[in-house]
Amino acid sequence: MHIKYNIPKISPKPKPKPKQDTLDDITIIIKKFPDIKDRKRISKQEYKEILAFQDICVIKKPQKEKRWKGYGTGSNLLNKIEIDVTYDCNMKCVNCNRGCDLFPSNERISIDKVGNFVNDFLSHQHKLDRIIIIGGEPTLHPDILQIIDIIHEYKRVYAECNIHLATNGVSDFSRHIITLMPSWLRIKTNTKKPFPRHYKFYKASKDFNQPAKACYLPWKCGFSLNPHGYYPCAPGATIDRIFNLGVAIKQIDQLNCQNFIKQMQILCEYCGFNPLIRSGTRRREIAHMSPSWKTAYNG
Ligand code: SF4
Ligand code: SF4
Repeated sequence: MHIKYNIPKISPKPKPKPKQDTLDDITIIIKKFPDIKDRKRISKQEYKEILAFQDICVIKKPQKEKRWKGYGTGSNLLNKIEIDVTYDCNMKCVNCNRGCDLFPSNERISIDKVGNFVNDFLSHQHKLDRIIIIGGEPTLHPDILQIIDIIHEYKRVYAECNIHLATNGVSDFSRHIITLMPSWLRIKTNTKKPFPRHYKFYKASKDFNQPAKACYLPWKCGFSLNPHGYYPCAPGATIDRIFNLGVAIKQIDQLNCQNFIKQMQILCEYCGFNPLIRSGTRRREIAHMSPSWKTAYNG
């Protein structure tokens, strides 16, 4: 007898699709960074950038690192800028993270450079939340009023951008210059008193066999422009000025998180704000400059 079997057709196993970013990936990231504020406002791209910063930042447990709270990561880095218009200063605070105490310089930003900054950011429609005009002591820049005028062009287009002048305000001269400033400009006076020792900035993590790790300052204060170009942070710009590392970003189209990470990988090795120095070494034990800084100081 011939038996006829009904053999069910077995469809071939579907090939696994190449892995793409899915909502699940995003959920994992949210779980990993539970303290990031305004999650809904952070885009998928920004989450990717957060991951990109893992190697350079100590953000494995952001919920335990209070300073990260509220500053966020990723594209927030490009929302604020500090412009170091001069490295001249009439104070000599010994912890100056612009090196104005031990590494004085006559370098100052040119009017052309400020004009290019405004033109580039307007033509690229790059919206900034805040611009801080700072230094050194910005009122000592001989063209400071003209610089403020040029930056006003940006404010005309982006009226909601907060523009501050940060001055120590200690001298009669500075206070006189402040009286000449336009009313739309916010003046921030920071009458710092000199500290007795410089235990923070002049420490190179490489002198303590620690790798480059970024602190929260770029996200808190914003990225930086100085006479040489753009940097992830103003202390990093000072490091490049003093150690001639040549890492400035010159063009606005090069301003992105990936290039900031490359800069941090070099600059943070020289910086006393590197979080590994804070956590790994007791401050009072290193009350003086680390060897790399001593070498730079002795020229
Ligand atoms: S006032 Fe500011 S820029 Fe001037 S030396 Fe002190 S910390 Fe540095
Ligand atoms: S260079 Fe210094 S201030 Fe800038 S991110 Fe690195 S550790 Fe922070």
